[in-house]
Amino acid sequence: MSEKNTDNHFDLIIIGGGLAGASLACALQDISLQDNTSQQRKLKIAVVEAFEINADAQPSYDDRTVALSYGSRCIFESMGLWSSLQPYAEAINTIHISDRGHFGVTRLTSEQEGVEALGYVLENRNIGQQLYATINANANTNTNKAQNISLFCPAKIVALQQNEEIVTVDISANGKLLQLSGNLLVAADGNNSQVMQLLNIGSSRKSYQQSALITNITPGKKHENVAYERFTETGPLAFLPMTENRCSVVWTLTPEQADYHYALDENEFLEQLQQRFGFRLGQFKKVGKRQIYPLFLQAATQMVHDRVAIIGNAAHSVHPVAGQGFNLALRDVASLAELIVDALRDGKDIGSTSLLEQYVALREDDIKRVYRFTDVLVKTFSNSITPVAHMRSLGLLMVDVIPDAKHQLAIQSMGLGGRLSRLNRGLPL
Ligand SMILES: Cc1cc2nc3c(=O)[nH]c(=O)nc-3n(C[C@H](O)[C@H](O)[C@H](O)COP(=O)(O)OP(=O)(O)OC[C@H]3O[C@@H](n4cnc5c(N)ncnc54)[C@H](O)[C@@H]3O)c2cc1C
Repeated sequence: MSEKNTDNHFDLIIIGGGLAGASLACALQDISLQDNTSQQRKLKIAVVEAFEINADAQPSYDDRTVALSYGSRCIFESMGLWSSLQPYAEAINTIHISDRGHFGVTRLTSEQEGVEALGYVLENRNIGQQLYATINANANTNTNKAQNISLFCPAKIVALQQNEEIVTVDISANGKLLQLSGNLLVAADGNNSQVMQLLNIGSSRKSYQQSALITNITPGKKHENVAYERFTETGPLAFLPMTENRCSVVWTLTPEQADYHYALDENEFLEQLQQRFGFRLGQFKKVGKRQIYPLFLQAATQMVHDRVAIIGNAAHSVHPVAGQGFNLALRDVASLAELIVDALRDGKDIGSTSLLEQYVALREDDIKRVYRFTDVLVKTFSNSITPVAHMRSLGLLMVDVIPDAKHQLAIQSMGLGGRLSRLNRGLPL
């Protein structure tokens, strides 16, 4: 029988406090359980994060934006976080999908779908600040108040052992070695997951031989809350409406083209972008900082191990073409949080094999659907061969005239396909 040092024993250990890991901690911050002396207490959570929230090297809360689907807004709303995120969110009321130089166009609107907005655009940094405001409000500080979240940051996992009863991790925090134990460990440490390496869990990775050049621009005209997805010969080009009438730009290019455009001076860059996008948004005025991300499809060979569940980018990374990555991660969070709460209510072990199997079963279809959806979009819309270009124009036209096809596309974009978790349906955990 393993010994539990109560100070360093947690119900849940989350490795990686990025968008997915921090969201899970926030979802579970208020959950109570009965301990073995029949006292009610809050779930004890440890979050181990490698970088301070405001550090330049912080890889999750950087200059990118996230197009949050309507379904993700519901999840944050059920978690009680939407009111603090909303001031930083710009609504997407229309999605305009077109093919540069070809005839097909389709438009999805919030009005047709009967929702307030199809989605929302937020800067990753702002989401991080709000998630950490919640975590810090619940985190152990030097006060005497008993808080239920312990944040170890900057800290990294260095070793991991599992047995039938607990999972133990050695972490290096501020130069000191510490040992934590938990009933369940969640790997939310991104697509170079060290937890997966320590457990010998592999992943398949397919490079798209494309890079995303991201930035934001100020257009000459009002964006009117329209998101543009334009398919060009080099790949998709997305303009998403942001606060202060800015547009977030995700420009998919070959790695060489991305480097070339990155190195251009501001005026040359704006000229090239304008040429690619056209004048629907008027003359582009200002451009923000540019960054490049290599694009790939990555899938973990397994999403669970003894007392370990894998969520977010560690489990799956997809092309940002349809803005699905974090939305998919948040649905991992919502499903896993629901299983944890149900197990606690029934007095069951949250690290049990049966809970982990249920997690895999719940997430399988959604993940496969998003892989297919993004992969097909990238393949079809990064192809300049004429018959393929005609087919996709026809495809866009068909989607535009067949109401159900359009509705299905909207449902997928809004993150409302398949079985929905309680949080996704606007219900509390
Ligand atoms: C260009 C681009 C645009 C995108 N646009 C969208 C979009 O519009 N909509 C959308 O839904 N998604 C989008 N995504 C995807 C989205 O960014 C990811 O899905 C999201 O970042 C996944 O979050 P995560 O927390 O799983 O992983 P990450 O963001 O990678 O976070 C991992 C965290 O773990 C920490 N960490 C790593 N190793 C360790 C360790 N050993 N110990 C402790 N901590 C560790 C890291 O510091 C980090 O904080 C986009 C992605 C890209 C590249």
